[in-house]
Amino acid sequence: MPRLVVVSNRVADPRKTAAGGLAVALADVLNNNGGLWFGWSGKIIEAAEDGSYPEPKLHAQQAGPVKLLTLDLNREDHDAYYLGYSNGVLWPVFHYRLDLADFDAGYITGYRRVNQLFARKLAPLLREDDVIWVHDYHLIPLAAELRALGCNQRIGFFLHIPLPPPLILAAIPGHDWLIRALFAYDLVGFQSKADHFHFCNYVQSEAHAQELPEGRWRAFNRTVHAGAFPIGIDVEEFDALARAPEGREMYERMRGEYSRRKLLVGVDRLDYSKGLPQRMRAFRELLTRYPETHNSATLIQIASPSREDVSAYTEILHELESLCGSINGNFGELDWMPVRYMHRTVARARLPGLYRASRVALVTPLRDGMNLVAKEFVASQNPNDPGVLVLSRFAGAAEQLREALLVNPYDIEGTANAIHLALQMPLEERRERHQALMNTIRSFDVHWWCDSFLDSLAKAKAEETGTPWLRL
Ligand code: ADP
Repeated sequence: MPRLVVVSNRVADPRKTAAGGLAVALADVLNNNGGLWFGWSGKIIEAAEDGSYPEPKLHAQQAGPVKLLTLDLNREDHDAYYLGYSNGVLWPVFHYRLDLADFDAGYITGYRRVNQLFARKLAPLLREDDVIWVHDYHLIPLAAELRALGCNQRIGFFLHIPLPPPLILAAIPGHDWLIRALFAYDLVGFQSKADHFHFCNYVQSEAHAQELPEGRWRAFNRTVHAGAFPIGIDVEEFDALARAPEGREMYERMRGEYSRRKLLVGVDRLDYSKGLPQRMRAFRELLTRYPETHNSATLIQIASPSREDVSAYTEILHELESLCGSINGNFGELDWMPVRYMHRTVARARLPGLYRASRVALVTPLRDGMNLVAKEFVASQNPNDPGVLVLSRFAGAAEQLREALLVNPYDIEGTANAIHLALQMPLEERRERHQALMNTIRSFDVHWWCDSFLDSLAKAKAEETGTPWLRL
């Protein structure tokens, strides 16, 4: 059995409960055959007095059968690779926000330097028959750097965020270099059919790639397989969390506190892609249009702090605080606060209880690769009396979760009407929709995602080399 090597910007210890579905699923696969997980340690090395940096050391830690290998980054590399290029260029542009991108020329150099550093440190540790799975936008050129060092292993890449259409992508100086780098992989996976379609359009129109059967593209003397692999959640994990004492206690507390009211819930990272101001405006519109919601609907919005050293994030924070304040000021009563906004992270063990106590979830990003909160909400519901999911059509999840109430988050009135519909929805319809959503979420859970990507990767390489198909 080949060994699996996972590479991602951050590495999670799969034994910790806060690790989350993705870490747990990857750990499952890593555990089966033993494996290696490689990435940044999260630590930054500051410059010495003369401005120099020491060579970064590799930290090794054994987590059961999985070896975690992490690397510190020096300040200059971190700022250019992580803050500059990954989060200042790729994140906004891939989320269709050209207006927020900062195309400072130095960032791309730092991005390339860190990918080279990762490749240099990883290459000597690889075995000939390893299978390497690289994750996300921080590491697009990693396979190209590994190939340059002579690595011929199977390498797959999964993009967790959206891929925009060619003309938006083409606004990035060096976009051709980025997409060319994808051809160093054997398999490239996207969250949705729409993202995959954008990739196909790009390679055809900009790279003049030749389309081959079975989802393959040929350009730059290489053949790459590409496809959509929508990520899922660990349904069993959510079920177990909902039944565990902390989940149950959270549910009881919320039901007790809001027994006379219908709860709406929003749980997000505080990010401009999540459409939080638009969501607040839609909720204000709901209160304006439908006075019967006064005193009876309460929105709990939890927004976890994220990338607070980037200015676009502090702006969204202020806008959100001011909107929540004005809604409560204009509509609130002595015994009813319409919005409860919290700028913090909720313990993972308590989330299912919060979701289950809520009648409606507002998952209304302006653009999202997938959005796991939508799936977590559905998985946490009581099937006999389930809540309703209001979901943005611009979340990758909307391709799969057709039985949610799909909305255009830019359309404030339309979203307000959909929220009203969700609050009013009869039990029978709620059950039917929930059942259908649950079937999808169960069939395409995080284990399905891991297995189907790795199966496709095994096949992808076999076709190229003529070796038998390898199943992980
Ligand atoms: P993104 O990866 O862009 O943050 P997703 O919805 O795909 O968006 O994944 C977010 C994950 O983080 C989910 O598992 C969700 O439960 C968790 N999460 C998001 N916001 C919070 C929060 N405020 N408190 C606790 N967990 C959160």
